[in-house]
Amino acid sequence: MARVLGAKCRVCRRMGLKLFLKGARCETAKCAMEKDKKRRPPGAHGEKRIRSTDFGIHLREVQRAKKMYGLLQRQFRRYYDEAERQPGNTGDVLVQMLERRLDNVVYRMRFAISRDHARQMILHGHFRVSGKKVSVPSYFVSAGDIVEPAKREKSQKIVKEAYAFKKMIDVPSWLKVEEEPLRGTVVQLPVAGEVAVPLESQLIVEFMSR
Ligand code: SF4
Repeated sequence: MARVLGAKCRVCRRMGLKLFLKGARCETAKCAMEKDKKRRPPGAHGEKRIRSTDFGIHLREVQRAKKMYGLLQRQFRRYYDEAERQPGNTGDVLVQMLERRLDNVVYRMRFAISRDHARQMILHGHFRVSGKKVSVPSYFVSAGDIVEPAKREKSQKIVKEAYAFKKMIDVPSWLKVEEEPLRGTVVQLPVAGEVAVPLESQLIVEFMSR
């Protein structure tokens, strides 16, 4: 697990992409990436430090993916190796694996305000997957799985609070959320085109296969 500690907006500015690391603020006009002056890389000489070599462009895409999903290099490598072994386009399979992580699914269902928040709630045992307690953020959901807050009052309260805040934001088509009782269903596994991830998976594959 690789949580971004410290100034999260600086990471987005350095990566040149909204990575949605902060929760509430990311959806508002206060986001640094929405402001012309702040969108540039951090530091007095930030712009000069941008790598525009072929290697730098590829590396940055890998770093963006790791920061966005909160992964360390070893875990990311494991996902890549597994994606490479599976049939189909390696980049698409890799993105599907990242999206299937329970912390991402909880975030996408709007049951948490950020992936970090989702991860923390999962670790604290606030979620059930198809009736079973799952406290592992990297758990892979499957088609047909039902993700819901635990029955206890505290779990219901914190998930409903996060959902109330985020409910205006669309849920991806491969997931479905019902409100009474609050729960989400994995309708199907995400396929390329259904996953709105601002990453160029081909650049990631080219870098990782070197
Ligand atoms: Fe990134 Fe904007 Fe969220 Fe800051 S507020 S972490 S810049 S998406």
